[in-house]
Amino acid sequence: MSKIKAEYIWMDGHRPTSKLRSKTKVIKGPITDLSQIPHWGFDGSSTMQAEGGASDCLLIPVRFIMDPIHGGDNIAILCEVLNADGSIHKTNTRARLRDVAEKFKDHEPWFGIEQEYTFFKGRSPLGWPDGGYPAPQGPFYCGVGADEVFGRPIVEEHMDLCIRAGLEISGVNAEVMPGQWEFQIGPLGALEAADETWLARWLLYRLGEDFGVSATVHPKPVSGDWNGAGAHTNFSTKEMREDGGYKHIEEACKKLGEKHDEHIAVYGAHNDERLTGLHETCSIHEFRYGVSDRSASVRIPMATAKEGKGYLEDRRPAANMDPYRVCAIMIETICGDS
Ligand code: ADP
Ligand code: MN
Ligand code: MN
Ligand code: MN
Repeated sequence: MSKIKAEYIWMDGHRPTSKLRSKTKVIKGPITDLSQIPHWGFDGSSTMQAEGGASDCLLIPVRFIMDPIHGGDNIAILCEVLNADGSIHKTNTRARLRDVAEKFKDHEPWFGIEQEYTFFKGRSPLGWPDGGYPAPQGPFYCGVGADEVFGRPIVEEHMDLCIRAGLEISGVNAEVMPGQWEFQIGPLGALEAADETWLARWLLYRLGEDFGVSATVHPKPVSGDWNGAGAHTNFSTKEMREDGGYKHIEEACKKLGEKHDEHIAVYGAHNDERLTGLHETCSIHEFRYGVSDRSASVRIPMATAKEGKGYLEDRRPAANMDPYRVCAIMIETICGDS
């Protein structure tokens, strides 16, 4: 038994968008099972999760990774937040996804989340001239060259950290706006995809500290003729992935259309600034789906249409969405009775 560092990570009570918090506990290691990790607590009055008079909140470990930043036997732990009496805290959106995933588990839902984000150095996106603008969009998406992409060393190291931590990262790419990037998590089951997205976000923010660069998931970090940042959510059920699955995908699209407003309500704050109908989005006031259509709300990938089975891509979620809420409502809408 030796001492290890255990980083406890949780979502705070910041409104309208929860932020990540974390703190370190030195515990006895090595840890091989979740049950060996002690529960912990924190001062909820400093995280907008409690009043000063009754400030204790509980941290319940729900998933851990080997901490790829500290290395060795050190770990990072994703936690759910409970009230002091053990009831579920109102900011704990994971608890509901747990229930929904369990209820619909026979459908075997899979998620692939494309997390876009923007690097900032000071008040400007990384690589932008101070107080000014770079050349108009066009060459930057999947670009190469020091004049096209900004921040690749951080992106590469982040990808390595995710791989070392055992996260199911499936790729990265430079985005349309300079300084903007994307990583993808999945496909995985709902809880795994959502947990790993939060852990990958944490690794990104934490790594950014070492570079003096922050990453933001604001859906429209620069207003004007610049792409916003989304979190396209790719989804399939067992029956969509099997032969003849295409008709289930179309049914799902129709169900999503009937609940458009309910979905938009949990797809991230400030998403109205991003879903304008321009910049590869559909207007927030409309719902459309289509094959290979990046101006639709929901896109059916070309390969899925060709094979007659596969998955759909909900393009509406903003980069700052809470994957627990997005995964929960997608499962309920698509797998539930309409
Ligand atoms: P885009 O062409 O929209 O940029 P990406 O390649 O960035 O697409 O992301 C596609 C995502 O879809 C990946 O995260 C991938 O893991 C996920 N995915 C692939 N197959 C499925 C599936 N059957 N169900 C859910 N997600 C899937
Ligand atoms: Mn993508
Ligand atoms: Mn993208
Ligand atoms: Mn996409």
